[in-house]
Amino acid sequence: MASYPKGIQAVAVALRRRYGDHDHYNRRNPLDELLFIICSTQTTESSYRRTFRELRREFPTFSRLAEAPAEYLAKPLEPGGLSNQKAKSMRRIFDAIEETFGKLSLAPLREYDDAACEEFLTALPGVGKKVARCVMMYSLDREVFPVDTHCWRIARRLGWVRATTGDGHCSDRDMDRLQNRIPAALRYTLHVNFVSFGREICTASKPACDQCPIARHCRRIGVRAFRY
Ligand code: SF4
Repeated sequence: MASYPKGIQAVAVALRRRYGDHDHYNRRNPLDELLFIICSTQTTESSYRRTFRELRREFPTFSRLAEAPAEYLAKPLEPGGLSNQKAKSMRRIFDAIEETFGKLSLAPLREYDDAACEEFLTALPGVGKKVARCVMMYSLDREVFPVDTHCWRIARRLGWVRATTGDGHCSDRDMDRLQNRIPAALRYTLHVNFVSFGREICTASKPACDQCPIARHCRRIGVRAFRY
């Protein structure tokens, strides 16, 4: 039987009470979600929400997107920065999806099991495990746990996981280890609320521990210098 971190249920309840499972504006269509995540690379939330809206306004159907050259895709992405890079990445992904499914759609993934779904998504150009699991969780209703920077930092402060890498970054193996430590039914709520909590209170450099609703579960409380 899997062993889960002590107090994990109480942490999930406390954070849900505070943040209400806010979904961070992610998309229900899996291809839209993938585009939304690409738009979010290295920019602020208000900026990527806007560039995604502009992109879909310019190309309202997937068939219009499928035909668009990268330089056309780049135009509405400009306000979010890295527009050429993001547009090329989208173009490569579109080509790979069309090659497999014969059309620009990720709907066929609804018939795949979790392992096959993740395998397909991570084989797309530039798509790693975190992005694949975001698409799976937000748009395909899979009980996976995407480990972004907030989830990684908070889970470590709570003592739920340790990095296996020398520099403390989250490797693919660490993502699997952390996911396996979280009961499937709590993965969605913990992910979305960790993102809110990590932005508001458990921030990277100066966490507001005096306002923390889960301080009694934290292994790092009382330590002056945070190493992570
Ligand atoms: S006590 Fe501080 S470091 Fe620990 S979870 Fe709360 S805010 Fe984060």
